[in-house]
Amino acid sequence: MTTKDLRPKIRHARIPTTMKLKCVAIKCRRKVEADKLLCERHWLVVPKYLKVELVEKFRPGRDTLTGKMSPDFRKVISKVVHQIADQEGLTVEADTDA
Ligand SMILES: [Zn+2]
Repeated sequence: MTTKDLRPKIRHARIPTTMKLKCVAIKCRRKVEADKLLCERHWLVVPKYLKVELVEKFRPGRDTLTGKMSPDFRKVISKVVHQIADQEGLTVEADTDA
């Protein structure tokens, strides 16, 4: 399995695939496609075990970035955001989802 295969996909989402969202990494303003969470640059710095977790917890069609993510999925995203922030020497603001 290549890292590309681990990219979460929203297969049954009702949101248009052309819709663009913001990369979830803090202070990143890059736009990403609706079936992705991170821009190319940030996806590459996420450790493989976290990518695997993301894909495992992801529920196609329900886990969009519009607020209907499962608590498990939110936890993984939080880990990813913190991991990236650590690598970039940034501080994550108080996590309201915790
Ligand atoms: Zn980014």
